[in-house]
Amino acid sequence: SKERLYLGMDFGTSGARYAVVDKQGTLHSEGKREYPIYKNEEETMDWVRSWRTTLFSLLEDVPSHLRSLVASISIDGTSATTIIVDSNTGEPIWRPFLYNESCPDALPIVKSIAPPTHTVCSGSSTLCKLVSWWNIDGPRKESALLLHQADWLLWLLHGKIGVTDYNNALKVGYDPESESYPPWLLSQPYAKLLPSVSAPGASIGHLKDDIRTQFGFPGDCVVCAGTTDSIAAFLAARATEPGKAVTSLGSTMAIKLLSNTRIEDARFGVYSHRLEDKWLVGGASNTGGAVLRQLFSDGQLEELSEQINPAEASSLDYYPLKVVGERFPVADPDMAPRLHPRPESDVEYLHGILESIARIEAKAYNLLRDMGASGVEQVFTAGGGAKNEKWMQIRERVIGVPVSRAMQTEAAYGAALLALKGYPNAE
Ligand code: ADP
Repeated sequence: SKERLYLGMDFGTSGARYAVVDKQGTLHSEGKREYPIYKNEEETMDWVRSWRTTLFSLLEDVPSHLRSLVASISIDGTSATTIIVDSNTGEPIWRPFLYNESCPDALPIVKSIAPPTHTVCSGSSTLCKLVSWWNIDGPRKESALLLHQADWLLWLLHGKIGVTDYNNALKVGYDPESESYPPWLLSQPYAKLLPSVSAPGASIGHLKDDIRTQFGFPGDCVVCAGTTDSIAAFLAARATEPGKAVTSLGSTMAIKLLSNTRIEDARFGVYSHRLEDKWLVGGASNTGGAVLRQLFSDGQLEELSEQINPAEASSLDYYPLKVVGERFPVADPDMAPRLHPRPESDVEYLHGILESIARIEAKAYNLLRDMGASGVEQVFTAGGGAKNEKWMQIRERVIGVPVSRAMQTEAAYGAALLALKGYPNAE
């Protein structure tokens, strides 16, 4: 018999991707779709229609000889993208609230019911979106239900309405430690809109018959609970032991560390997502590639980096920021960028900047440890900065643990690994 395969789909900010893996995690196929532009009557973007179309386009993009081997499917979506649906039909009854949309009208209300530094106390949290809708819409409250983007797309595949996962549910207020919605939330009139919560990757149900036969998926194909896009990207790096971490060196620097303990600190914007019996601790600094891009082209970066001796410590002490203000590992909204003195040699200058960013990275991991998280033991790297071998060596010396490039960084690949985990007979 042929080997079974596992399908993951990522609905990111700029487009959607799929990835098909086998039991070993070997990639068999991947692909990408842009979101098609559909306008509704008010001439605004009809996201729901665009996402639905993209979902079925991706299913069609999976080569048909692979489709017939798919044992399970999972999906990640952008965190805090919220859809209010009719619980009888599953159809959205309001335009979706996008991940980055803010609902300042709801923030004072949410702050008055939630504990002071709770993750829902941000204008773009799912709970603020729910409260904002609750205060606008009247007639359809009785049959309304809240879903996240991934939940709704998964519902299109399995047909069981009202299921989410504890990663997506974090920003609506779900407590993954006690595995329940907290009392201060359950006592609200809109608590009846909250979906039930599964573990990410838990099998929810079989792929709907009509979809299965239309696309040629096998009869036993199951659909599994999803996760958020940034968690799926972490899963892709396969950092499965406590102490393993992923640093994303994009325009900014984001770090994620797998920990035995849960830590939170609102001052630094540090919080933890649950991953099975462990915690995924995250924090984001404003330092990163954006400063490099201001000073050098990508070509110059490559050429200058070649000439750096990574074994030699740079004595230049900078704090590279594109604009004023830092959150983590230093919480100071007034912190000014520090990029002086500038040496005559651009090689020395770049060396000083790369080394300074590495020191901030080391400080970030140390701060997480001081807050009670597992100590960092190995760092995988994602983002544009991951292609810089010299920087990797500098970071290894400064942080004092092995640093390498992540083999996989696509969230769709992480979602496929979730599907693999959820397939009952995978092991
Ligand atoms: P984002 O998605 O956050 O915009 P990317 O992950 O695409 O960022 O990474 C882009 C960043 O990578 C740019 O800010 C750029 O300066 C940086 N970058 C590109 N090439 C290199 C390199 N060789 N060394 C270090 N940084 C690099």
